[in-house]
Amino acid sequence: MSSLTLRNLKKRFGTVDVIRGVDLDVSDGEFVVFVGPSGCGKSTLLRMISGLEDVTSGELRIGDRIVNEVQPAKRGVAMVFQSYALYPHLTVRENMGFGLKVRKVAVAERGRRVAEAAALLRLESLLDRFPRELSGGQRQRVAIGRAIVGYPDVFLFDEPLSNLDAELRVHMRSEIAALHKRLGNTMIYVTHDQVEAMTLADKIVVLRDGFIEQIGSPRELYERPDNVFVAQFIGSPK
Ligand code: ADP
Ligand code: MG
Repeated sequence: MSSLTLRNLKKRFGTVDVIRGVDLDVSDGEFVVFVGPSGCGKSTLLRMISGLEDVTSGELRIGDRIVNEVQPAKRGVAMVFQSYALYPHLTVRENMGFGLKVRKVAVAERGRRVAEAAALLRLESLLDRFPRELSGGQRQRVAIGRAIVGYPDVFLFDEPLSNLDAELRVHMRSEIAALHKRLGNTMIYVTHDQVEAMTLADKIVVLRDGFIEQIGSPRELYERPDNVFVAQFIGSPK
């Protein structure tokens, strides 16, 4: 089953075409990584999938539904941002449960899901702390926890590790890989880190100026890049 389908997807801001006809099929449980230079439209594409940005034209399908007009909370997706976007005045527990509360999930069920995510992410002892009392890695885990509790079909990650130092980045990378194995969700993951892309992805999508330049497994892109642009991104470590 295809869990996510983009058909000739376009986005225009004012007079600028930012996403210029993107076609993509993502299967259930697949780990897809978007790479490409700054400004090529990676975040915009994720925001369109999540519903934070409207689609200008084309079709966006999640599971068997066309979701162009479906509001973000009803799409079955959850997004994790580079900036974590935690609420400073809420505890870890409240941050993680916030979306469920908004969706009127009952208190007991909320507590159960937060406890489950906290165990998965080793946050149990931190549930009553505030974001300012956490390290960068812990904050990022809370942001991931907040996404997990909604039981999304599709996880969207926008450069989730780029604010972390190199060592922690490597550690969190393997945590994310383990999480994916454990949950089996579909993941769409944006990064500009080539190693992250190569190690995490089932499939890499190379974007350039709002177009897909090439799609393939890490190995295919590494061994058979279509052009110099892709080779620079994937083939030759910088
Ligand atoms: P990336 O995540 O690949 O760095 P973005 O998706 O953030 O790229 O941005 C793609 C292009 O769209 C950039 O040229 C950016 O300036 C433009 N853009 C993004 N958001 C807006 C917006 N809300 N209004 C106008 N232009 C935008
Ligand atoms: Mg971006």
